[in-house]
Amino acid sequence: MTASQRLIDLRSDTVTRPTPGMRAAMADAEVGDDVYGDDPTVNRLQTLAAGRFGFESGLFFPTGTQSNLAALMAHCGRGDEYLVGQDAHTYKYEQGGAAVLGSIQPQPLTNEADGSIALERIAAAIKPQDIHFARTRLLALENTIGGRVLSPDYLRAATRLAHSQGLATHLDGARLYNAIVQLGTDERAAVEGFDSVSLCLSKGLGAPAGTLLLGSAPFIDAARRWRKALGGGMRQAGILAAAGLYALEHHVARLEEDHANAARLAAGLRTLGLDVTEPQTNILFVAIPAATVDGLRARLVAAGILASVGVRMRLVTHLDVSRADVEAAVATFAAHFRGH
Ligand SMILES: *Cc1c(COP(=O)(O)O)cnc(C)c1O
Repeated sequence: MTASQRLIDLRSDTVTRPTPGMRAAMADAEVGDDVYGDDPTVNRLQTLAAGRFGFESGLFFPTGTQSNLAALMAHCGRGDEYLVGQDAHTYKYEQGGAAVLGSIQPQPLTNEADGSIALERIAAAIKPQDIHFARTRLLALENTIGGRVLSPDYLRAATRLAHSQGLATHLDGARLYNAIVQLGTDERAAVEGFDSVSLCLSKGLGAPAGTLLLGSAPFIDAARRWRKALGGGMRQAGILAAAGLYALEHHVARLEEDHANAARLAAGLRTLGLDVTEPQTNILFVAIPAATVDGLRARLVAAGILASVGVRMRLVTHLDVSRADVEAAVATFAAHFRGH
C-alpha cells in the first residue's frame, strides 16, 4: 500500500465520511441550544422524520445505543422485563445497558436463521401477572438484523401478539432504510405496529453522527428526560442535524447501490469457492478457512483494504465503497485464494 492509496473500508457502514454537499449543509446550519428546544435545524429534522414515519414526535440522539436505551427506559420501569433477540444489538452489543443503567431485565430469546423470533417463543416468554415474576412490558425487534430484512407479515403478527398481551413494541431500526429500499415499501408501512422506532443516520445514510427516536408525544417527552440523564442533551446540535436532514434527502434511494455492490461482492467471492451468504441488503458473511485467515489479513492490508478478517467474516458496503472498489476487493481475494 502506498501512502496516497485510498483505503477500501469494508468493516462497517459506520465509516462513511460526510460528502462535500453534506459538509456544506452542516456549515450553513442554523443553530440554537437544543436543550432549550431552540435549535431550528434539530427541530426540523425531528419533525420531518416523525412525519415521514407517521409518528407524533421525534427526538435526536448522539448515538443509536443511547436512543435505544432511552426508549427502553421510557417503555419499562425498574424491575420490568423486555423480550429481545439473543442476537439483537440492544441485548448483545450495548453492554447490557438496559439492565446496567435502566434496571430493566432482558429476556433474551433465540433468533431464527432469518433473524425473526418465533411467535410461539414470544408468546411463551410473556410472564403472567404473579408476584414472583417481573412484569413483561415490551417486545423489542430489530430490522434489518445482521443485514436480513424481516418480512412485513412477520412484523405485523409479532406486534399484534405483543399488543394483545398488553406489551409495548420497539423497533431498533438502525438500518431500517436498507429494509425499506430492499422491500420497495414506504416508511409508514415499515413501522406499522411499532410504538417506537430508533433510526440511525450514521450508518448507510452517511451522516457523521446521530440517531432519531420516534414515537408518541408523551413517549418522546419521557425519552427526552432520560436522554438528559444519560448525558445526551446536546447544545448547538443543528450542525449534526443538518447532516441528518441532508442524508434523509439525498442518501436514501442510493442505498440500492450498496445492495447491488454487496450482491456483486458475494457473487465474486463465491466464484472463488468460498461459502458466502446471499446478502439481502448491504451486509454479507464469508466463511474463511482458518488456516488462511492470517495470510488473507496480510494480503488485504497490503492492498489497502480494511476488513475484520476471521473464520466468519462480515463485509459491509456503503456510500464510500464504489463498484470499482468491490472489483478490487474481489481481485485481492482471488489473488489470495487462487494462490492456495
Ligand atoms: C449501529 C447500531 C446501533 C447503534 O449504534 P451506535 O454506534 O450507538 O450509534 C443500534 N442497533 C443496531 C442494530 C445497530 O446496527
